[in-house]
Amino acid sequence: MSKPVSELVPSPRLLLGPGPSLVHPRVLRAMSTPLLGHLDPEFLTIMNEVQALLRTVFQTDNPFTIAVSGTGSAGMEAALVNLIEPGDTVIVGVNGVFGARMADIVGRAGGKAVKIEVPWGQIIDPHRLEDALKQAGSVKAVALVHAETSTGAHQPMEEIGPLCRRYGALLVADAVTSLAGVPVRVDAWGIDACYSGTQKCLSCPPGLAPLTLSPRALAVVKGRKTKVQSWYLDLSMIADYWAEGKRAYHHTAPISMIYALREALRIVVEEGLEARFDRHDRNSAALMAGLATLGCEPQAQAGHRLPTLNCVRVPAGVDEAIVRKTLLAEFGIEIGGGLGPLAGRVWRIGLMGESSRHEHVVTLLSTLEQIFGQHGWTKQSGAALTAALQAYATAT
Ligand SMILES: *Cc1c(COP(=O)(O)O)cnc(C)c1O
Repeated sequence: MSKPVSELVPSPRLLLGPGPSLVHPRVLRAMSTPLLGHLDPEFLTIMNEVQALLRTVFQTDNPFTIAVSGTGSAGMEAALVNLIEPGDTVIVGVNGVFGARMADIVGRAGGKAVKIEVPWGQIIDPHRLEDALKQAGSVKAVALVHAETSTGAHQPMEEIGPLCRRYGALLVADAVTSLAGVPVRVDAWGIDACYSGTQKCLSCPPGLAPLTLSPRALAVVKGRKTKVQSWYLDLSMIADYWAEGKRAYHHTAPISMIYALREALRIVVEEGLEARFDRHDRNSAALMAGLATLGCEPQAQAGHRLPTLNCVRVPAGVDEAIVRKTLLAEFGIEIGGGLGPLAGRVWRIGLMGESSRHEHVVTLLSTLEQIFGQHGWTKQSGAALTAALQAYATAT
């Protein structure tokens, strides 16, 4: 006989890692409301509302704008496996974990991934992309990570869409750590397939992957010669589930997650996209000013740093694992460590959605100062907080 399992009482956490981010109580309340059947007319209205809100946040008019059942990686996989047929060439920017994941999926879908590899933290230069487009022959798609969560690099997208169009390639963009945190202008930038995840800047639990396809991309999906090898992520079937007036059963939508996303999107729209982007910028600037006084240098290329994911190098002599362990065990604060080649060398501090708040920046910096002080890693306690408060005071 196993022992009875006690009621679930998770410890309170200040989530300042690479996701999940803090969830607004309104979102948690929405999740605890009663279930509707997934083909109930009332639920269909909710799906329509979610689609309309997603179009606003993606800054697109794409009719095909949905939430894929699954986390951000399901959005990535759905975008790629539906566009790629065996033998297709896809140029993939690889400057961190998520570009590498895209290239892996391209290969699994029978495509040929032509990787543009640059050091982690750098962006993919549009000139290098153009060279690759010239050399690769017929290219089905270009896949880039807009916000590389493993390094904090913020890929500029404005020039990429027109460039892809000149070479007849579709543009796929990973906006998992950018959507609702920094501008993602799907239509203005000419992105053909853009996906995100709910647990980053949307401040919703993990479980859905917002996805939008341009009419051009949708035509490619509908005109495939071969079936998508994934039944679950076959967007031509899922399209009939989300299409107004059709709603043909494909799989059961995760009802409570759709409720959650609806509320999270309502909160985003209430705040306003521009105000939200400004908030993310302000809090990141203050955090980075404070971290600089502790000797933490940014990992990502200057001028191309995400405010949503602040990746900094661990100063020499500092035990990075002890810092993360102490933050979590003694203060209930989560930050992220490095992945792959950056393991043990960087911290990844997420200021996404509800986690991007003045009070969280202040809490984290003063806690870090305390831990650094205890170990004799800093002499001048208070400098980080002062620098952050100064950054807030001078922010416009
Ligand atoms: C988190 C993340 C993903 C994967 O999302 P999961 O929800 O973990 O499946 C993909 N791309 C980027 C850039 C991410 O940050």
